[in-house]
Amino acid sequence: MTRQRITLIGGGLVGALLAQLLARRGFAVEVFEKRPDPRRAGFVGGRSINLALAERGLQALRTAGLAEDVLERAVMMRGRMVHPLEGASGLQRYGVDDSEVIWSVSRGGLNMLLLDAAEAAGVTLHFGQSLVSADLDAKRIVLADESGTQRSHDASVLIGADGAGSALRAAMDDYQPLGARVEPLGHGYKELEIPPATGAERFAIEPHALHIWPRGGYMCIALPNTEGSFTVTLFLPAHGPHPSFDTLPDSRAAGAFFREDFPDLLPLIPHFAEDYDSHPVGTLSTLYLDRWHIDGRALLIGDAAHAIVPFHGQGMNCGFEDTVVLADLLAESRRDTADAFAEFQRIRQPNANAIAAMALENYIEMRDSVADPHYLAKRELGARLAERAPKHFMARYRMVTFTHLPYAYVYERGRAQDQLLEQLLRGSTSANDVQLDAAITALEATLPPLPKLRHG
Ligand code: FAD
Repeated sequence: MTRQRITLIGGGLVGALLAQLLARRGFAVEVFEKRPDPRRAGFVGGRSINLALAERGLQALRTAGLAEDVLERAVMMRGRMVHPLEGASGLQRYGVDDSEVIWSVSRGGLNMLLLDAAEAAGVTLHFGQSLVSADLDAKRIVLADESGTQRSHDASVLIGADGAGSALRAAMDDYQPLGARVEPLGHGYKELEIPPATGAERFAIEPHALHIWPRGGYMCIALPNTEGSFTVTLFLPAHGPHPSFDTLPDSRAAGAFFREDFPDLLPLIPHFAEDYDSHPVGTLSTLYLDRWHIDGRALLIGDAAHAIVPFHGQGMNCGFEDTVVLADLLAESRRDTADAFAEFQRIRQPNANAIAAMALENYIEMRDSVADPHYLAKRELGARLAERAPKHFMARYRMVTFTHLPYAYVYERGRAQDQLLEQLLRGSTSANDVQLDAAITALEATLPPLPKLRHG
């Protein structure tokens, strides 16, 4: 029996993992990737240098048999280390122990590991091959190599994992409008580096934490890298009054701003001027589509279908969760491809919309509220309820990051829990003012028990 052929556009994080999963399920998979092979040419970045891997992504990697290999190359982050402008820094742990932690992974390292795994599973990888156009009636695509030379190629089942600027999405949209809506955040980002320490300590600051310098309308974060450095990301309004990337066009202006607003961080970045002047300002948007597929001929997945802002650290995690759902649907009794694509959209789209909304909300929480007393009182009351009534209360961040509960469920549940916390704290400034037994009675009367949790 000939194996069904699937053509994937994009061999980034989601494309490479999906290719491996499909090959392991018996499909003949080919991948066309625009960039040169990172394993030979070195990884050419584009988006962030490192990323936070959480339970959803990890679960997909377990399915692919790759979780242990990835974790060996990752740095554990036990919580958020918050650095206020004044006062001491403090670690807000994610869980009581190391069973609830997230992991900082190198994008390049992870991509290369996934490409190796895809190749080992029998996937044919083509690098330096960029999708130019797709004729969905003739089932042919046009690819360009690095010199711009074009060729045409047969492709009856196409999957676009070619990221937020997807070329396949543009081709599908020309064929049949997908109802695309792009909402720019209005804030951009720039990456800077804290190099490894020179003394006995390998890391200049606590390695096992996601560092945040919240400053109200903007913030810096830093994630550790295995060799001892940290990648710092400054998030700031793109335009408008000070401070924005408009008013900080170069390292001179930005240096003065950092001396005022991030005085403890600036000395940790010895190549500040070089980093600031040579690294681009990245843009951030949320992408919504009405349709993710054209019958059984073409489908979008990962950022190509639902790019989100990075403030929940879930874009890749969500894309990885997508890959398992899609591979299972396609493999399930070799169901009709159009039917599998439609089912994939039916299952994943509400979840993608929910994490898009939560990621936007988390920006405000990270840059603003982690240092805000009302937020901290709510967080404390939530923690007490979660401890005393774990079947009825779990912080939203924890549901997103450490469970497999569908994002859409988490969004709704989080909203209901938040309303209850607001109600319980009305007129109080501290969680200590709330009578806990009465709060638990109110909780149990208002919200049904949480579904049974599937931990990894
Ligand atoms: P991409 O990673 O963009 O890969 C697309 C691939 O397609 C690339 O290899 C590209 O070269 C290729 N391609 C593009 N066009 C073509 C073409 N025409 N033909 C052929 N190939 C093509 N997510 C997390 O889970 N945790 C985090 O901590 C996190 N942090 C982030 C921080 C920042 C600053 C940003 C911007 C994003 C972050 N994300 C994070 C989100 C994450 O980066 C994305 O969700 C993830 O990269 C999506 O993977 P993808 O494979 O769908 O797309």
